Amino acid sequence: MKNYQITQWCARFIKEQVSPGDLCIDATMGNGNDTLLLSTLCGEKGRVLAFDIQEQALKSTKEHLISAGAPDNYTLLLESHTQMKTHAQENSISCITFNLGYLPGGDHAKATKGDTSIEALTQGLSLLRKGGLISLCIYSGGDSGFEERDAVLAWLASLDPHKYLVIRSDYYNRPNNPPIPVLIIKL
Ligand code: SAM
Repeated sequence: MKNYQITQWCARFIKEQVSPGDLCIDATMGNGNDTLLLSTLCGEKGRVLAFDIQEQALKSTKEHLISAGAPDNYTLLLESHTQMKTHAQENSISCITFNLGYLPGGDHAKATKGDTSIEALTQGLSLLRKGGLISLCIYSGGDSGFEERDAVLAWLASLDPHKYLVIRSDYYNRPNNPPIPVLIIKL
């Protein structure tokens, strides 16, 4: 059976979106799985900017990229994703990934937060080029609570339908607050 886990689900759309030479952003680097995917897809002529606020994430992502033989096309930044707009031009980015929550195996207190995630998502919309994609994985429950999920879902519902297409998927029959995959397309 195919893998329908949230990251694999989103990866299908990311693969369809990103072409060689594209500029991409991983807004929540973590252990670098999305950074690696974006780096591989945009290739030597493309570029990936990846953000995280934890040294541990940069270290583990760098190791991951090197051991996977990723092209040398990435910049790993120890900065909040709220600094995104200082590193890229408006209407220039093909794909931005957000994987909310905490670093697996890391400090759960350093998880993403509703207000900063919404600030970064808002910046992401202006950096995206027409036809660009934001892939967003929302986690809730447990240590993550519900505040960030509820704030981000409310923000998504408020986006102008003439400017953005928002597609939310659901693991509809799965108990215990399953993750929510969301795609935002800039029209
Ligand atoms: N996509 C990652 C991977 O492949 O491993 C997993 C990301 S993890 C669920 C969320 C990450 O967001 C954590 O590493 C955390 O440190 C980071 N984070 C939290 N607040 C952030 C912020 N303001 N800016 C950038 N990254 C942040």
